[in-house]
Order: sequence, then C-alpha cells, then structure tokens
Amino acid sequence: MTVSDYQAIIGLEIHVQLDTKSKLFCPCSADVFQAPPNTLTCPVCSGQPGALPTLNSCAVELAILTALSLNCEISSTTRWDRKSYFYPDLPKGYQISQSDLPIGISGWFDLEHNGSIDRIHIQRVHLEEDAGKSIHHGNHALIDLNRAGVPLAEIVTEPDLRSPEQVYAFLTELRQILRYVGVSEAEMEKGAMRCEPNVSLMPHGAHELGPRTEIKNLNSLRVVRKAVTAEIQRQTEIVQRGNQVESITLGWDESTNTLFEQRKKETSDDYRYFPEPDLLPLSISSALVASLKANMPALPQQVKQKLIKDFSLSEKEVQVIVKERYIAEFFISAASIFPGKAKKVYNWITGPLFHQLRQQGLELDQSPLTPQSLVDIISMVETNVINPQTAENVLLQVLKGKGAPLQIIEQGDLRLVSDRASITNNVVAVLDENPEQVTKYRQGKTTIINWLQGQVVARMRGKADPHLIRQVLMQILEDES
Ligand code: ADP
Ligand code: ZN
Ligand code: MG
Repeated sequence: MTVSDYQAIIGLEIHVQLDTKSKLFCPCSADVFQAPPNTLTCPVCSGQPGALPTLNSCAVELAILTALSLNCEISSTTRWDRKSYFYPDLPKGYQISQSDLPIGISGWFDLEHNGSIDRIHIQRVHLEEDAGKSIHHGNHALIDLNRAGVPLAEIVTEPDLRSPEQVYAFLTELRQILRYVGVSEAEMEKGAMRCEPNVSLMPHGAHELGPRTEIKNLNSLRVVRKAVTAEIQRQTEIVQRGNQVESITLGWDESTNTLFEQRKKETSDDYRYFPEPDLLPLSISSALVASLKANMPALPQQVKQKLIKDFSLSEKEVQVIVKERYIAEFFISAASIFPGKAKKVYNWITGPLFHQLRQQGLELDQSPLTPQSLVDIISMVETNVINPQTAENVLLQVLKGKGAPLQIIEQGDLRLVSDRASITNNVVAVLDENPEQVTKYRQGKTTIINWLQGQVVARMRGKADPHLIRQVLMQILEDES
C-alpha cells in the first residue's frame, strides 16, 4: 500500500469553560482570566481534607444547553464520578467528572465546508471541573489554583473529521454556536476553549480504525490546525516506512512548532473511576429540559436562513453578519424598522460602522449605538438632511456616547444647507473671486467645474448639498456665457 491509500481520521475532545459566576462545587468566582494567582480559592477547590462540594445548578443548566445546541439526547439520570490521577495542579488527587452517564449523548451537527455538508456526530457532552495551572519559572514550578473547580463542558466528537482544515472549520462553527447560545465565550486565547485532537490513519475503504494518538491541550485554532497537520505527516512517515503507529499522547511545543511525545496512552482503567460519594446522583427533569429548549436563542444556522429569506442577503454577506449574535441581532432590528433598505443597512454596518468600531477599539455590543440611531443616520443621508461625510462623523459621536444623532446634528449645526438662495450667493462669490477659471470654462475647459464646485463646498464648510451646488453652478455659468 502507498500513502495515498490512507486517509486521516480525526476525533476531537473539546473543553469549554461554562460562563457561570461561581465555580462548579464552591462559591469562588469563576472569573479567572487575569485574576492574580490563587486569589479565587477556598477549602473546597484547593482540596482541603473534609471540605465538601455543593453543586452549582447554573453550570448544570449551561451544560444541558450546550448538549441541546448540539442536538444531543439529555440523560434523565446522571452521576458524578471521581477520575483519579496524580498531577501537581490537582490537589484532591482526583477530578470530579462524569464517566459513563454524561449529561448529553448522541448529538450531531452539520458542518458546511468546501462546498459540502458533513454530519459530525457528537459522542457525548459531560460536565466536569477544571484543574489548576502549573507555571514553570526558572527552576521552580508554581501552582495557580484559580482555575481549579471552574465548570467545563467536555464535548467529544465521533472520529468523523477528515482533514486539519475541516477541524478548523468545525471548531470555528462550534465556537459560534456556543457564543450564540450564551453558554461560553469560548475564547481559546483566554483558555475558555481547549482542544485535544485524536488522529489516526485508515486505508481508504477500510472499516476498522487504526491506532490513534492524542494531542493534548491546544489553545488556538491555528495551533490545532498546525498540530493535526504535523501529526498526519508524522504518522504517514511511520506507515511509509512500513511500521505501526503507536498509541501515544503528544504535546505541542509552541516555540519550535513541533510535536513531542508525552507518555504512552492511559487506558480508562488507569483513572480508577468510581461514583463520587460526596454528591448525590443528578436527576434532570424533562420539564427543565423543555423550558431550556423553549428559551434557547436561535442558532447561527437558523439566523443565516432568516437573513437570506427575510432580507435577501447573499451567502457571503450573511457570513459577515452572523459572525456574532449581537451583530446579527443589531442588523435584524435595524433592517426591520427600515423596510426595503436591508442592503443599505448592511453596507452601513459593514462599512462605516465596522470601520469606526475598529478605529475606536470598541465592540458593537458595548457601544451606545442602537439600531434606531443607525437607521436615523442613514435616513437623514437619504433625505439630504446631512451628507455622507457628516453622517460618518455623527456615527462616531454616537459611538462615543455624545448623544442621539439628531441632537448631535442640531448641536453641531450640521444640517445641509439646501436653501437655494444661500447656495447661489456662495456660487456667485466663488465665480467673482476666480475670473480666470471662469474664462477657461467658457473657452471649453469644462472640467474646471469640479474645481469650482470644490471651492463652493469649502466656502460653505461642507454643509451644502453638493448636487444643488452643481446645479446652481452650471446654471450660472451657462446663463452668462
Ligand atoms: P479517551 O477518553 O481515552 O481519549 P475516547 O473513547 O473518549 O477515549 O475517545 C476520545 C476521542 O478519540 C473521540 O473524539 C473519538 O472520536 C476519538 N477517536 C477514537 N478512535 C479514534 C481513531 N482511531 N482515530 C481518530 N480518533 C479517534
Ligand atoms: Zn472554591
Ligand atoms: Mg482522550
């Protein structure tokens, strides 16, 4: 067999930090990003003898929502299990997790990638607590327990993925779904989403999976893509030499962009799972599931369809708008109060608005701009109350919290002068000041009208309706010739 007879098989284990205020089994804050080390700990999450866990029901609801958003079946009875292993950042010596009774099972989602749609099956979604963090500093190893006990949803896919690019697309879509549903920011840079890809090679047409390796704890989309690519390459070379791939656990070295072997893979027996004696089994009522389902926000896929159907946006335009839920919601509100102008709203959002937000380092969901104010600004341009440049300036002022559009226009005296008499006065003044240009115009160099128009615009400090200026200019120049 040659290498091209093989295809890559990839399954993912993804840890997502659920957006709760407090940790999974204690009242400590779960807002760990940037908190000084060991400031968010208590006897429970630092593993003191005799400290007892109490369950945060909010985390359970978010885990159910996560499972629902991935079309999982929700278990009516689940349980907590101790997963024992020794690691310095795990003070209890075990992690409270869910072994054979996860909250959600048998989910799926349809991934669009490279023009085809593939159903990626979700094996399970379970809830567990995070461990702490080891920090290596010179010859010292330091432990920060802020993360210990933070609630994580672990999402495990079936080995349905086939390429690093498809993995990248999957994680991008998954992150989007999680953000839409509001269960997690899922920001990999902040450690709120981590991924462990499992990789193997299989001869085309075969049905049995080959031995797999697992790459631990990757924390950016780019790194996942690079590490999976490197692992496929590594396994391919092994197979090419006629050898067998060993089941090992790998790490990714960011500084050298290479994989390194961590350890031989544990079997699940090594963890010595057994039911957690300090917590009751967990019953999930069908009423709770039904109410969570009923209140679930629209998923990106549904929003995409609505944008295409109700507002006639193109596939490409939709991609830009659905990126974040708050952008989609902003667009839908604005386009709904401005019937027939969806395209205009789209252009304003993706043009001047995105530009100003980038310049100001703002996010739309944290800015005082409402869909109504944006529509007000656009309609004032359409009715010639202000010109487009002024409108962008007004938009900036609104983003800076300086007030509502109309208020800013009145205060700054920014209305376009559309009064013909005043424009005529200014045109006459400019023509009087520039007899040479007028002569040139009359001798046939008609393009000079653009320069003259510019002079009038400047003289009126950009506040006059440029169309009207042009009209008046033409009229006077023609009349007098
Ligand atoms: P463990 O917990 O020991 O890692 P699991 O059975 O939970 O084992 O599998 C973890 C992940 O490995 C899943 O995402 C699954 O899809 C993936 N996986 C299993 N077998 C293979 C394989 N042969 N090739 C690639 N991925 C695999
Ligand atoms: Zn605590
Ligand atoms: Mg694993």
